[in-house]
Amino acid sequence: KRRAHIRQKESQGLLDKAIESVESLEEEKDDIREGIEGCIGNTPLIKIKSLSDATGCEILAKAEFLNGAGNSPKDRVALSIIQMAEERGLLIPHSGDTIYEGTVGSTGISLAAICQARGYKAHICMPNDMAVEKSDLLLKLGAEVERVRPAPIVDQDQFVNLASRRAIEHTTNANKPGRGLFADQFETEANWRAHYSGTGPEIYGQTGGHLDAFVSGAGTGGTLSGVALYLKPKLPNLKVVLADPPGSGLYNRVKFGVMFNNKEKEGTRRRHQVDTIIEGIGINRVTHNFDVGRELIDDAIRVTDDQAIGMAKWLVENDGIFVGSSSAVNCVAATKLAKQLGPGHRIVTLLCDSGARHLSKFWASTEPVGGAEGDISLDAILESRS
Ligand code: PMP
Repeated sequence: KRRAHIRQKESQGLLDKAIESVESLEEEKDDIREGIEGCIGNTPLIKIKSLSDATGCEILAKAEFLNGAGNSPKDRVALSIIQMAEERGLLIPHSGDTIYEGTVGSTGISLAAICQARGYKAHICMPNDMAVEKSDLLLKLGAEVERVRPAPIVDQDQFVNLASRRAIEHTTNANKPGRGLFADQFETEANWRAHYSGTGPEIYGQTGGHLDAFVSGAGTGGTLSGVALYLKPKLPNLKVVLADPPGSGLYNRVKFGVMFNNKEKEGTRRRHQVDTIIEGIGINRVTHNFDVGRELIDDAIRVTDDQAIGMAKWLVENDGIFVGSSSAVNCVAATKLAKQLGPGHRIVTLLCDSGARHLSKFWASTEPVGGAEGDISLDAILESRS
């Protein structure tokens, strides 16, 4: 009986402690988000412990895969494009208007989700060599999807050209209901502005303005330009660095002022001809979104497929972070930069999307984590060439 009494007293004590510990949570009121759009932006900035410990720098990554609509930084861009079009009267919510876009996936996924929330249709054109998870997801989100063969921008059926043409076909066809809008992420200012007014200020706030470098890959260039345009005037000593995958001409553009030359071998083969498993970054033309921030880019770092795969596995094995290919490229470049700058610096980069979106392509090419070859060293990852 006495033992039962003691046990009851102990339980009461534990319960009292538990109540005390949740009371502070109860004080935080009114944290309710307005639909999925309310879950876009204000993403956490994560210190990547393994890379920070290994380099003596603080390597921080903005967890953009935690954006709550399409789970990538493109949520910010898709929302910005739609809001700007609505302000200009080019789209009317819940009217059944159709948004057309050429995308390697992420922007399409963000658009498709927001389209459902705002009562639009989404029509997505994408290259057919992108991970099948992306087109599957688009279909489940109710988008119409056209997958086309990879082609250079001069080809009229290149995915961006096709999306633009489909929008024109819509607007000139009297039988098509509603308006048709080409979202045009590569050329629209709504893209870099989303990062100028969101990603950039968030990074500044989260670091208290204390950072030495920002490093990111570029697809449209909207992220790099928008963040650089916001941060550079405030932090003139900030180093802005492009991370570039195989076949992309941007590395040469930043390093040598031309898209293609023979000084750097990989750059002589065009992005759509290179059999890389890295998706979402790397391009062979200067888009408006890249051009608007081009002068603010201080340097470029080339990253190979093997380096990206090695880094993706490293992040799982050491930090429990499971990301896709462009995030892995960003982390390789951030680590190389940390080695260049030396210990004591703070470098910010982005984690763009989850590895779950890359299981059939990028992750399919890796050995299982903890696989036969044993632990890999960070230096071995950074030195792998192919
Ligand atoms: N990561 C992923 C997964 C992407 O899809 C993209 C854009 N295509 C980027 C990075 C690059 O971002 P930005 O277009 O702003 O250069």
